[in-house]
Amino acid sequence: MDNILEGRIEKLIEPVWFIQPHFVEDKGISFNKIESQFGGSPYLQLNESLPVCASCDTPLDFIFQLDLSQWQGVKNFKFSFINLFYCWECMPLTPEFNGEKDPMKSLEIRTYRKATLEKYKPIEIPMESVTLTGDINFSEGELLPDYKDLEKIDEVLYSTINELSQKANLNEVEYWENLVEAACGTLDSYSFIGGYPQWINKPNIPECEVCAIPMKFVCQIDSHEEIDLIWGDKGCMYLFSCEKHNKNQKAIIQY
Ligand SMILES: [Zn+2]
Ligand SMILES: [Zn+2]
Repeated sequence: MDNILEGRIEKLIEPVWFIQPHFVEDKGISFNKIESQFGGSPYLQLNESLPVCASCDTPLDFIFQLDLSQWQGVKNFKFSFINLFYCWECMPLTPEFNGEKDPMKSLEIRTYRKATLEKYKPIEIPMESVTLTGDINFSEGELLPDYKDLEKIDEVLYSTINELSQKANLNEVEYWENLVEAACGTLDSYSFIGGYPQWINKPNIPECEVCAIPMKFVCQIDSHEEIDLIWGDKGCMYLFSCEKHNKNQKAIIQY
């Protein structure tokens, strides 16, 4: 590989935190309230109550909370803690697959500048309403863009890859994926914070409804059967936030 290509690839490498969930029975109120976790009882602040589904009017299920305070990418945002609630009854998915339903109606993302014990409001979800529970192991790694986003991110690199793969008589996606693996190693998990979304279907980066600027990728959470988290037909959830308007987040689900 020539140096120019190597240099371009190196510039795009982003640090990520891979997420490995593992099942634990008790994620109730007795557990550390401001730790990253799947399900159980969420971190809420004093002025908050549990969110309700705007489609079916029942309480949304708590899916996960992530403490981003130690993640280097958090400097792009004005929050360091994030919660996600979702309705398993309505199962909202992306408009591209389900034109009728607005996924954001049956999904709520909450962000906090800082999660502190002083502001913590103890609230326990009854065990029979808890749909999943899990701890998280994080591992640090690196990532490059999905081939599907490469043209937008670096047009020169994209056309170079296409030329080289043709010369080598190889499929361009595989060619790119081999380069990614050589530079970053194998992905520890398809759930991670930071880096670039790894799309199941075509790229779908949402725009902020206030400033119309494409949102910044925060994390993607894959289906994990070991903790009973399955998006649609074993899909993946992608979470984005506007860098300017920190109240504006969106989730995309693909499967
Ligand atoms: Zn619902
Ligand atoms: Zn905005």
